[in-house]
Amino acid sequence: MSKIQIMDEVLANKIAAGEVVEKCMNVVKELVENAIDAQSTEIKIDLQDSGVKEIKVADNGIGMDKEDAVLAFSRHATSKLIKENDLFHIHSLGFRGEALPSIASVANVTLKTCNGEAGTEVEIHGGKLISVNPSDLLQGTTITVKNLFYNTPVRLKYLKNLYTELSYITDYVNKMALSYPNIRFILKNNDKLLLKTDGSGRLLKVIHDIYGLSVTKKMIEIHNENEDYKISGYISYPELQKSNKNAITLLVNGRVIRNLDIIRYITDSYHTYIPQDKYPIAVIKIEVDPILIDVNVHPTKMDIKFSKMDTLKDLITKTITSKLESLTLIPDAALETIIDENKTRISTVYTPNKFEEFNADQKEQEFQEFEKMSLDFEVKEETSSYQEKETNDDNSNQKKERIKKMYPVGLVHATYIVAENEDGMYLIDQHAANERVNYEYYLKELSNPTPAVMDLLVPITLEFPSNEYLILKENFDLLEKLGISYEEFGFQTIVIRSIPVWLTKANVEKAIRNIIDIIVTKEDFQLEKFLDHIAATVACKASIKANDHIMQEDMEVLLERLRSCENPFTCPHGRPTIITYSKYDLEKLFKRAMS
Ligand code: ZN
Ligand code: ZN
Repeated sequence: MSKIQIMDEVLANKIAAGEVVEKCMNVVKELVENAIDAQSTEIKIDLQDSGVKEIKVADNGIGMDKEDAVLAFSRHATSKLIKENDLFHIHSLGFRGEALPSIASVANVTLKTCNGEAGTEVEIHGGKLISVNPSDLLQGTTITVKNLFYNTPVRLKYLKNLYTELSYITDYVNKMALSYPNIRFILKNNDKLLLKTDGSGRLLKVIHDIYGLSVTKKMIEIHNENEDYKISGYISYPELQKSNKNAITLLVNGRVIRNLDIIRYITDSYHTYIPQDKYPIAVIKIEVDPILIDVNVHPTKMDIKFSKMDTLKDLITKTITSKLESLTLIPDAALETIIDENKTRISTVYTPNKFEEFNADQKEQEFQEFEKMSLDFEVKEETSSYQEKETNDDNSNQKKERIKKMYPVGLVHATYIVAENEDGMYLIDQHAANERVNYEYYLKELSNPTPAVMDLLVPITLEFPSNEYLILKENFDLLEKLGISYEEFGFQTIVIRSIPVWLTKANVEKAIRNIIDIIVTKEDFQLEKFLDHIAATVACKASIKANDHIMQEDMEVLLERLRSCENPFTCPHGRPTIITYSKYDLEKLFKRAMS
C-alpha cells in the first residue's frame, strides 16, 4: 500500500471514529461484543480512570491467527472474522468490521491473541501499525486501548467527567451480564472490583449481583408465549420503584435492545399499582423468529422494529397483569420494603462514594441463603394454596379474595384504620382505600355500554368558542358513550337533558365541563385512558378524607369493600392502601421470637 493510501485510510478511520466512538463505553461495548462473538465464557474489563487512560478487555474465546490479528485493524477487511451466524446479521451490515480500526485510529492499541496455536501481538498507534510480534498468550484475546483521543483533542474534550463515563460503562456491563448469565463478567476500575458475575447461568443471581438482596427478594419470575413470541424473565413487585426506565432491560434473541414502546407496555401493565412517574425493575427476554424483526443498527445503539407488535403487546400486558393479579401485595412494614433509589447500583449519575467495592464471596453466600429461604417459602405457599382450594370448593362461584377478612380495632390520627386477623396487624389509609373502592366502581359504571341515566330537573346549557365546538362536534359520540344526552341548540351551544347516574355524585355542571375540556384539549384521545382519568378524579372527590373521624361500622364496611376489589393494594394513583406487620414480625420486634 502506498503512503498516500495509508494516510487516506487513517483519516477515514478518524472520521469514522467520530461516529462510532463518543464515550469510553462505546469502546468497551465493541470489545465486549467481539469477546462474546469469540465464544468466551469469561470477559474481564479493566479500566484506568474510567477508561479515559486505559481500557483493557481480556477474554478466553477462540482467539485469532496472525493474519486475522493484523486484518482486524484494516478498515476494509472482509475477513473470516465477520461471521454470519448472528441472528441479527449485524456483521453483514459492515458496521462491526469498521469499529476496531476506528478505535485504533484515535488511541494506542495493543492486541494479544492466540487461537490455541501460536500467539500474536499487534501494536497500533493512532492507526499506524507499529509492530507484529509473537505473544506468550495461551488462549483468547486481550485488547488494551490506551489514551483514547490523544490525537484528536477536540473529541477528548467531549468526554464527560470520570464518574459519568464510568456510569455509562457500568450500565452497559450490567446489561450484558443480564443478557449472558452464562458468561462470567469481571469489571474493575483502578483495580477496584465493581462487578463479578459467576457465569453459572442463573439470571436471578446476576440480578442479585447487580441490584442487591433487597431487590432480588422482590423480583417475580414470568414466562409465557404465543404463536409469535416467547417471553421470560423477572419483574419487580410494585413496591419496588425507580424514577427512570434504566432498570428495564430488554433482550431480543439474546441481544440488549432499546424500545420505548415495549417499555411503555411494561409500565402500563403496572397501571395504578405504581405511580404514573415511576418505573418497575424488569429483565425481559423476548424470543422471536428473526423474520418478524427489523434491526436498525446505529453504531451507538440498537433499535428494533417488530412486525407483529400488537401480539407482543398483548403477550407482555397479559403476562404481567395476570402475574400481579395472582399476588398478595401488602408491603411488610417490618421488612426493608421501600427500596432506596441509591441503594441499587443502576442509577443515571454516580457519585464517587456510590462505587462500592464488590464483594463476590459475600454475594455468593447471601444468595445461597436467599435461595434456601425462598425454597422453604415455596413449600409453605403450596400447602396453603392447597387448603384454600379445598375451602373454595364449597362456594366455587365466589371470586378469589386477595386479602383475608380483617377486623377493625380503631382509628389512628383520624386517617389510618388499625385492623387485625390471625395473620397479623394491618394499617389501612382510609382515603386511599375508599378511593380504590370508588375508582373500581366508577370505572365499571363508565365502561358500561348502557349506563343508568337520569333526567335533569333543570337542563344545563353550555356554550363554547367556535374552535372548541368544532372539535366537540366531531366527538359527540363520546358524550353518548358516557350516557350524557345532549341537543345542539343554535350556534355553538348544547343543552344537556340527562346524565349517567354515577355523575350525580359530583357537581354536575362542573363535571361535564371538565369532561368536555378533556375531550377538546386532548390531542391523542384514547377513550380508555379518558375513562380511567375520569374514574380516578371522581373517585378522589367522592372519598372520605384524612381527618374524617369515621365510625367502627364504616371501617367494617370499607374493609369489606376493599377486600372485594380487583386490586385492593393501591389507590388509583399507585400509592399503597394497606401495609402489614405480620404476627411473626410483631413477635420478632418484641423479642418473643428468636432469629
Ligand atoms: Zn385522593
Ligand atoms: Zn390516590
